Amino acid sequence: MTLSTSGLHDDLSQLRLDNSFAALPSTFYTRLQPQGLTQPRLLHANEQAAALIGLSPRALQSEAFLRVFSGQQPLPGGDTLAAVYSGHQFGVWAGQLGDGRAHLLGEVIGLEGNWELQLKGAGMTPYSRMGDGRAVLRSSVREYLASEAMYGLGIPTTRALALVVSDDPVQRETVETAAIVTRMAPSFVRFGSFEHWASRKQPDELRTLVNYVIDRFYPECRQTPTGETADEKGAILRFLDEVTRRTALLMADWQAVGFCHGVMNTDNMSILGLTLDYGPYGFMDTFQLDHICNHSDTQGRYAWNRQPSVALWNLYRLASSLHTLVPDGDALRAVLDRYEAQFIQAFHARMAKKLGIQHWRPEDEALLDSLLKLMHDQRADFTLTFRRLADAVRGQTQGFQDLFIDRAAAQAWYEQLAARHAEDPIAEESAADDAPAQIRANAMDAVNPLYVLRNHLAEQAIRAAKEGDASEIETLLTLLRDPYRAKPGYESYAALPPDWAGGIEVSCSS
Ligand code: AMP
Ligand code: MG
Repeated sequence: MTLSTSGLHDDLSQLRLDNSFAALPSTFYTRLQPQGLTQPRLLHANEQAAALIGLSPRALQSEAFLRVFSGQQPLPGGDTLAAVYSGHQFGVWAGQLGDGRAHLLGEVIGLEGNWELQLKGAGMTPYSRMGDGRAVLRSSVREYLASEAMYGLGIPTTRALALVVSDDPVQRETVETAAIVTRMAPSFVRFGSFEHWASRKQPDELRTLVNYVIDRFYPECRQTPTGETADEKGAILRFLDEVTRRTALLMADWQAVGFCHGVMNTDNMSILGLTLDYGPYGFMDTFQLDHICNHSDTQGRYAWNRQPSVALWNLYRLASSLHTLVPDGDALRAVLDRYEAQFIQAFHARMAKKLGIQHWRPEDEALLDSLLKLMHDQRADFTLTFRRLADAVRGQTQGFQDLFIDRAAAQAWYEQLAARHAEDPIAEESAADDAPAQIRANAMDAVNPLYVLRNHLAEQAIRAAKEGDASEIETLLTLLRDPYRAKPGYESYAALPPDWAGGIEVSCSS
C-alpha cells in the first residue's frame, strides 16, 4: 500500500468500499456505466472532501482520478448504478423520476463513516425521461461551490469532491458545455424514494428501504425510549420523528442565513436532513420575505418565507407513504404535529444568537419581526444587516444604518435591541478581560457570516471557469469555508452586490 505521510491514499484502487445500496434488490436501481466526457479536464478537486474518503491531494492529480470522475472508468471496487425514486414536483404528483443524470459509483468506507460517491451529468439513464443526462458547467460550478459554502456555515449538506469539464456541447436555451460534479453523501435516499414504493403499492420493497435506512442511519429507532426493542410500528414512528426533527433544524438553518433552495420537491428532500440538489438556489442579497430565487417558480411555492411550511408538506408526503406500513394516521400525524414547535424553537435559537441575545424570550419575536419587516420594506441586504449589528454593538451604528433608506427607523430599531441587550447582561466572569459589549459583538460575528455565496460571486467564478480559470473557485472556497472571519484584501467579496447582479436569472435549466 502506498500511504502518504498523512495516512491518505495516493491511489484510488486502495479505497475500501462497501456498496450497501447496490446490495438492495435490483428493483431499486439499474446497473449501468456512465457516458464519460470527451477530453475531460479537472477544473477543481476538493482536498477536504477527498480526505473524508481517505484520498491524498496527490491522488486528485492522478490520471485515474480524472478518468473515474469524468465517467470514463468505473470506480475500482464500485458498483455503478442509477437509483429509482418518484416524487411530488411543485405540489403535484409526478410519478416515477429517478437518477436521470446521476450515477452512484459506490460507497467508500471513510475514517469517520461511509460516503457514497455520485457523478452528476454523466449521461442518460433509464430515468432520464426527456433529459439528456448532462449538466452544464454553469450549474455544476454552482453546485460545487454551494455544497462547500453550506458546509462552511455548519449546515447539513451533501459535499462536492470534484468538478470536471469538457468542450462537449449541451443544448439548453443556448449551447453550453458539459461538466460533471461528483457529490458525496452518506446516502442520497430521498423522501421520493419512499413515495415510489408506496405509490406502486409494493409494501415489501417499502419495508426493505425503511429497514435499510433505519439500520444504517437511524439504528437508535430500533429501541423504545425505555430501552426495549421497538416493534415495526414503534421503529417507524421514531424514524419519522427523527427525520421530522432533522428537517425542522435544516429549515431553521436555511432561514437563518437567508438561503432559498428553489426546488423543494419531495425528490429533492434528503432522508438524512441534508441540503440536497443545488439548482436555482440563492442566498438572498436584498431581503424580501417572499423572495423567489427560482425563475421557473412562477407561483412562488418555494419562496423564502414558505420553505418551513413546504418542508412540513413534504414530510406529510413521507408520512403518508409510511402509512402503508403503519396504518395509524393519528400516530403519524402526532409525530408531524411536533414539527412546528421544533422549527420555531430552532429558528428562535439561531436568531437569538444572531441578534446577540443570550436567552430568547417570547417578546423577542416582536423585535425580530419588526427587524424583518424593516429590512423587507427598505430592501436591506440580509447578510450585511446581521453582520453590521455587531459593529453597532461596538458603538459603530453608521454601517448598519447605511443599509436602510430610512436611517432613523433603522436607528430606532437598533435602540430597541440595545435596550434588550441591557436586560441580558454578559456574565461578569466572562467579561473579565474584555468589555461586555465586545464579548457580545464577537459572539455575534461568530454566527453572522460576512461571506455568503451571493449569485454574482458564483457568476464571476462561472465566467472565469468558462475560460478554464479555477482561481475564483479557489478564492471563494477559501472565504466560504471560514465565512465568519474578515480577511484583509477580500472586502469586495463581502460588499453589496454590483448593479449587474440584479440581472442574473437562475432557473431550473441546468
Ligand atoms: P431536479 O428537480 O432538478 O432535481 O430534477 C428532477 C428530475 O429530473 C430528476 O429525476 C432528475 O434526475 C431529472 N433530470 C433533471 N435534469 C436532467 C437531465 N438533464 N437529464 C436527465 N434527467 C434530468
Ligand atoms: Mg433532484
